[in-house]
Amino acid sequence: MNDTSWQQALFTQSAPELGNQYRDDPLLAGWLRRTLPADVLRDVEPELDELGGVAGGALYRLQLADRLNEPCLLQWDAWGNRVDTVEVTALWREAERLTLRHGLVATAYERTHGRHARIEQFAKVYLFHPSSDVYTCPLAMTDGAARTLIESGNQALIARALPQLTSRDPATFWTSGQWMTETTGGSDVGRSQTRAVQDGAGWRLYGRKWFTSAVTAQMALTLARPEGNAPGGKGLAMFYLELRDAGGRLNGLRVDRLKDKLGTRKVPTAEIMLEGTRAELVGEPVNGTRAIEPMLGVTRMWNSVCAVAFMRRGLALARSFAAKREAFGAPLAEQPLHADTLAALEAETWGAFLMTFMLVELHGRLEAGEIDAGQRALLRLVTPLTKLVTGKQAVAVTSEVIEGFGGAGYVEDTGLPQLLRDAQVLPIWEGTTNVLSLDALLRSDLHAGLAALMGRVSACVRSLSDPRLAAAGRQAMGAVERSALWIQSGHDRDVLQASARRLALTLGRALQLALLCEHAQWLLDRAGDRRGVAAALRYSRVPVDLMHEVDPELDRVLLGSG
Ligand SMILES: Cc1cc2nc3c(=O)[nH]c(=O)nc-3n(C[C@H](O)[C@H](O)[C@H](O)COP(=O)(O)OP(=O)(O)OC[C@H]3O[C@@H](n4cnc5c(N)ncnc54)[C@H](O)[C@@H]3O)c2cc1C
Repeated sequence: MNDTSWQQALFTQSAPELGNQYRDDPLLAGWLRRTLPADVLRDVEPELDELGGVAGGALYRLQLADRLNEPCLLQWDAWGNRVDTVEVTALWREAERLTLRHGLVATAYERTHGRHARIEQFAKVYLFHPSSDVYTCPLAMTDGAARTLIESGNQALIARALPQLTSRDPATFWTSGQWMTETTGGSDVGRSQTRAVQDGAGWRLYGRKWFTSAVTAQMALTLARPEGNAPGGKGLAMFYLELRDAGGRLNGLRVDRLKDKLGTRKVPTAEIMLEGTRAELVGEPVNGTRAIEPMLGVTRMWNSVCAVAFMRRGLALARSFAAKREAFGAPLAEQPLHADTLAALEAETWGAFLMTFMLVELHGRLEAGEIDAGQRALLRLVTPLTKLVTGKQAVAVTSEVIEGFGGAGYVEDTGLPQLLRDAQVLPIWEGTTNVLSLDALLRSDLHAGLAALMGRVSACVRSLSDPRLAAAGRQAMGAVERSALWIQSGHDRDVLQASARRLALTLGRALQLALLCEHAQWLLDRAGDRRGVAAALRYSRVPVDLMHEVDPELDRVLLGSG
């Protein structure tokens, strides 16, 4: 007799589930209620609700089903023609459809809600991103290219490309690449080797671009050195190019291969050889690194939103699992230490969210021309700070989320490992943590930025009547004041540089804590909601001030190079 009843009695763990990602996110809904006028919120909420449903439902299911598919590069056709076409995944095709339906780039340029347009756009992106297999990467560059062209004032290129970049129509929509990194370096782009040679009224480019995501774009903004220009960043110029002509033929370039990457595997990141690519100068034939800065301002904001969206997604999954999974006689959610672990992640996510959406709000003000000098200085400083702090938080939070699932978190077909792998790119592209820290610290306008940041933190502190929040607010203010003093105390260059990351993280975490306290007070006053207080106090228990004495000479001894 074959008795299989014991097999039927074997335990099977049910999978984590996602609900409507808008309705399940009281932080987003609460912050929007606090920030947007009531009529604007009424206008945007139905679409957020729809997108929240799709992101936690059909798109998430498609993402899991599409897990093993990756983009494919076809270099030659059957007749020996070089074609270099890239077939993207089914999820990416659906992501494009949703992008157009919800205007994930277009919303920022239609400006239906004036200075709130960026908030509306990024609330949608925040819901969409974790189910999109990083389709947000080309969208970020598309948005960045649109903004850069507008700032360049080049009316011919604006007329040619802007309607496509901001289109909601699949027949006309274009994405853009941003081709900066070469084999010589992505941080020190001044070492770029790509040459620009004048050819009649236009230019031809020769060189190799080493990381180009996503190579499915119709156009790109890139840097190249016009012949005879000086070495370094100033000698580079910014160029506009289209990848194919009207007949679909490649514009003097070759896609050598797609990169085999740790994560973002659905993003076709290519190595490209420019072999006389026709291009147009966007502005002056020098100062390209400065000309392309608007691109970075936008893509770093996207990066921050994607970081906080990954944290939110990881937590949504981890909390669902903790409610279902039992150990030692109770669901994980009721085990004090597991709850403590998740609470720490929740507090990090709240802090990252508030800083990121403050940045988004400021950016919306800038583009609507409703920004004062202090807010402008704050925006400049918090753009690199937010990108670098949230990038680190996203990796830390998603790593802990993986552990929160035990072995299942390490198993590919749960879909969970991808979360950590994809998050790991966030501190690398669009400027690494170290490079952005140096950028923030060595900027000529640091003092204006610091004064604005102090002003913002002290406004938060002044809004606090709850004594526990007031104490946490003072902790944030103290960390900013000590950082400012440290900057002013005339350290030598090596000490300054060696401390830049700790300083940037201290300023970023202090701002997050102050914003947490401010939001917590609002939640408390408005509805007696204590969640914000819990997040702020929890966040305040991790040291905010990360500064300590450094000795670069001793570091060199430790590394064996002293
Ligand atoms: C998946 C993916 C997609 C990408 N897509 C694009 C794209 O579409 N377009 C594009 O242009 N680029 C793209 N990049 C490239 C990316 O922007 C670069 O990898 C990044 O800027 C770092 O440059 P690098 O790789 O040359 O590293 P390096 O510049 O060599 O840096 C190596 C390390 O040195 C550190 N470092 C450098 N200088 C200093 C310093 N002065 N002090 C302290 N530390 C320092 C950095 O922080 C880093 O940790 C992509 C990268 C990845 C991973």
